[in-house]
Amino acid sequence: MISLAAVNAPLEPDRQTRSELAAQALSYLDDWYDRAGTMPVGAGVTDEQILATLAREPSEEGSDLASLLAVLTAAAQGGINHLSGGHMSYIPNSGLYTAALGELLAAGLNRYTGVADSAPGFTAIEHGVVAWLRSLFMMGPESSGLLLSGGSMANFTAIVTARTDKLGDEFNNGVLYVTSHTHHSAAKAARLAGFRDDQVVPIGVDSNLRMNTGALVAQIQADRANGLKPFLVVASAGTTNTGTVDPLEEMAEIVADQDIWLHVDAAYGGFFQLTDRGREVLRGIEQADSVALDPHKGLSIPFGVGAIIVQREQSLVDAHEGRGAYLFYEDSHMGLRDISSLGPELSRPFRGLSVWLPLQLHGIGPFREALDYSLDLAGHAFERLSAIDGVDARWKPDLSVVGVMFDDDRLGQAALDAVNEDRTTHLSPTIIDERFVLRFAILNRRTTIDHVDHAIDIIEKTLRG
Ligand SMILES: *Cc1c(COP(=O)(O)O)cnc(C)c1O
Repeated sequence: MISLAAVNAPLEPDRQTRSELAAQALSYLDDWYDRAGTMPVGAGVTDEQILATLAREPSEEGSDLASLLAVLTAAAQGGINHLSGGHMSYIPNSGLYTAALGELLAAGLNRYTGVADSAPGFTAIEHGVVAWLRSLFMMGPESSGLLLSGGSMANFTAIVTARTDKLGDEFNNGVLYVTSHTHHSAAKAARLAGFRDDQVVPIGVDSNLRMNTGALVAQIQADRANGLKPFLVVASAGTTNTGTVDPLEEMAEIVADQDIWLHVDAAYGGFFQLTDRGREVLRGIEQADSVALDPHKGLSIPFGVGAIIVQREQSLVDAHEGRGAYLFYEDSHMGLRDISSLGPELSRPFRGLSVWLPLQLHGIGPFREALDYSLDLAGHAFERLSAIDGVDARWKPDLSVVGVMFDDDRLGQAALDAVNEDRTTHLSPTIIDERFVLRFAILNRRTTIDHVDHAIDIIEKTLRG
């Protein structure tokens, strides 16, 4: 019979082996981070042959870490280097070394944060992160929330919570309101939450692409008259298309006396609340029943950390509490609510550490300054783009996404192609009113004025022909 020690040996490396493995992995990562500011955003080319070798099955005996790190380098080819400051497409995330260390520590300690009883200290750390978010949005002592995998899950959790709170088990007649600029994850979440497509009602937007509140009031009245039950309005605090913030104060006023839940999707724009200018633009967000946030956007935490905060903890519990006979626990421990009773997951990664560690280590100041600088850069981009002949910069940015049309859509597409072929910077387009729109999404901590100017120079040159 083989001994347990022999079976486990490779899986339980001794201290020296652990140190060597960690040194190799961290040194590999260092090489990336040394180059992060200057690396091209276009990550080179890959092909199907390489992808096929990456997908190969594991062997019986395994191999060494050095050769596996070489595989990672091959795997990193193609697509976008998110670490690069040139990344201004979609909604960027620049990554954060200290947050990655937080993830390593969390995974290494591997404590269970589904129930407070099994890791009260770690649960307290995560609740502390959420408490900071709640206070950032001026929510009261009844408020609550949790960290999830991203904005999509935050929107899903919000919609399920609003459904339970406002409609209970009968939600055949419920209707919720969005605009054509609301992130598609809201409609997807509604479908996952059991709503038909016709229960998601788009409200028109004004010339600034904000929800038309007059149209909202009229639609609510019309739907009520038709025997439907309006129960939720989804506002955007920074649309993905153009970074536009819906009229939050007005929307809060409209729903206040209507028994309708107001959810604000602030996955992109929420952390601008840390800045004076952002706080001004986001005014009214503190009146929302729930807010979706993405630390993996505005705080540069590695992908996989979103958040939902709500005004009343009980609304989350009503929607998510579940019990199994095999789980002997109260739903709170030493005053700490079980995270699993607030959201859809039971077992979950200890996400709190990857947010807590960098916030505690660096303080909030550097995050605030980085976001403030993004606003400066967006203002600069808007000014320069406005001055270019053939560019139609009709939407002054609310936050840090600058979307522009072109007098000729084909020239806009050509400008985008030229920027991305150059690989120093990367932009992505969108379609608004069936017109081509080029976007600068500036949220990456490593993006400098040189990156912005470089892309605009190429656009200018393309238009001049
Ligand atoms: C990114 C984003 C989402 C989706 O969030 P994920 O973290 O990608 O799941 C939802 N809404 C808005 C406004 C976003 O920018």
